[in-house]
Amino acid sequence: MNNTVANSRAAMSASKYTLQCNSPQCRVKLSGFAWVTACSHVFCDQHGSEQFSRTPSVCPTCSTMLSGKLDVLRTELAPSEQYKAMILIGLQPETVLEICHKALVFWTYQVNQERLLMEYNMSRAGGQVLQMEKFMIQQNKSRELELNTLRVEIATLKKGLEEYKQKYNEVLERLNERNRQYQKLQGLLDSLRMHTLGIGEKDPTPHTFTTGLVKQHSPHSPLFLRPEGDRFFSLGPDNSQSFFQFSSPTRDRTHSFIKKN
Ligand SMILES: [Zn+2]
Ligand SMILES: [Zn+2]
Repeated sequence: MNNTVANSRAAMSASKYTLQCNSPQCRVKLSGFAWVTACSHVFCDQHGSEQFSRTPSVCPTCSTMLSGKLDVLRTELAPSEQYKAMILIGLQPETVLEICHKALVFWTYQVNQERLLMEYNMSRAGGQVLQMEKFMIQQNKSRELELNTLRVEIATLKKGLEEYKQKYNEVLERLNERNRQYQKLQGLLDSLRMHTLGIGEKDPTPHTFTTGLVKQHSPHSPLFLRPEGDRFFSLGPDNSQSFFQFSSPTRDRTHSFIKKN
């Protein structure tokens, strides 16, 4: 019972199968008229007309020489009921069966060829998919590698940046410290200048601080004598001292006073 159903289903699906033009560039599903050959190939009306208009002709699929009168036949794929009713009439039963057998052999061959072609295409596509997969895996691996390299690079750069930031902060801290020292010295200098100025206006006697400064120099710090013999122009280790002596408005007065002495 089940077998019968399966068989009838197979028969139904087989009858639903449509032949395709055997020309590799065409492969159109056949309907209406088609050209069939003794070598069991079939072509659409267009390709058949082109290929078999001259005699003898050659099968474009298998290169069989088709020179006989019935080697190529243009046939109607869905013949009329009248045609079907008459075409085999009067023939011996074995002839009828022989004709049916040959027609079925042709059909089986076509279906098998289609199956083989499909299998070939499938295996080729499968191979392509496999190749693509391999390629993709390789690509992914190399991308992963690149990504990891970049990650390491980023980490190194971040570390470097952190170090630079720290160094910058240290340098900034030092600079601020220097600035504070400078401000302090500047303040000291200003107060000393004011002090010296006040003294100079009141009393022409050189302030002990000036002499004290010169005396404070270590024996290694040289005393520079300017051409005019300014003994108070000294290049001490501290710039603020020389600056002080250079810019001191009372220097000339002090100088002249010392010269007098
Ligand atoms: Zn065709
Ligand atoms: Zn052929």
